[in-house]
Amino acid sequence: MQQVVNTIFNNDIFVVTSHTAPDGDNVGSCIGLTKFLKKMGKKAYYVLDDYFPQNLSFVYNTEKIYSSQEIGSLIKNADYVLAALDCGDIKRLEIDENIVSNAHLLVNIDHHKSNNLFGNINYVKDDASSTCELIYDILKQTDDSLIDYEIAMALYTGLVTDTGNFMYESARESSFTMAADLLSRGIDKQKIVRNIFQSDSFNYVKLISDVTSTLDKQGKIAYMLLEQQMLEKHDVDYSDTESLVNIAVNIDEVELGILFKEKEENLIKVSFRSKQWANVNEIAKKFGGGGHERASGCSINASMQEAVTMVLEHAREYMKLHGRDN
Ligand code: 5GP
Ligand code: MN
Repeated sequence: MQQVVNTIFNNDIFVVTSHTAPDGDNVGSCIGLTKFLKKMGKKAYYVLDDYFPQNLSFVYNTEKIYSSQEIGSLIKNADYVLAALDCGDIKRLEIDENIVSNAHLLVNIDHHKSNNLFGNINYVKDDASSTCELIYDILKQTDDSLIDYEIAMALYTGLVTDTGNFMYESARESSFTMAADLLSRGIDKQKIVRNIFQSDSFNYVKLISDVTSTLDKQGKIAYMLLEQQMLEKHDVDYSDTESLVNIAVNIDEVELGILFKEKEENLIKVSFRSKQWANVNEIAKKFGGGGHERASGCSINASMQEAVTMVLEHAREYMKLHGRDN
């Protein structure tokens, strides 16, 4: 961690970015770090070329988000640090390749089990609840007094997103200590909970009925399909479907929940979630993806039917090999 803190002190220009399909942890960590660096008097830019889920707008609307195109001229010929947060693989960064290759230093801060240490400096702890918890530790070590309301709100957002509001086993003692400290700084935790967990759109809830109509269960595996036509029918954005997969894994006696999402024709994004013991990082890896032990994903270039057949075959095999009775 000290290496990251030194990098912050010793540099003036930072580009902060994260992975494709932004979620609460990467938005929270990027916003938190960007704001903090600016408070230190540094130049810091949050860059991501992607769509953002609507329910996180209360966090990202507090800061300008740059596209790669916009940032190009601002950092041209500059010595800048690229901070990649919450991203396990350099290929998942949703930012122009030149911005990556021209960086003076690449700092990789993450908690994914599958992280392949692609940075010049790697601060990767797969036992951390969230990247926000790692950023919180770094900011405290750098200058505790600069953690203001907006930074604390952003960091708490990532913490509750990745721990399912402290429900998952990834919520450890240090996560509760962090939460208590952020609360003592005056954050509005109910505002965060309302935005993340209690702001589903009417259309989204209608969409759920179409998705759950595809629900199937095979032993301890439950899976569902999300097709493009369902999104169109209900006028829901693909980026607003992040938590759908939980419906499958939350079923009693199910250990492995899978959601197959048709992102485009012949491009199926698969989300895996497990409850107690299945290591879904291993399952996703088989298809070129990755993630954590209890949450992972991959993308498959195939039709929906082909993807389902392929993934279920492997998942059944995995469960047979590693299966437990509880
Ligand atoms: P989700 O199912 O919500 O898209 O992703 C669950 C977790 O797995 C997230 O931490 C995400 O970063 C990771 N993940 C999802 N898809 C991929 C992928 O294609 N490759 C890798 N390396 N990680 C992924
Ligand atoms: Mn995360």
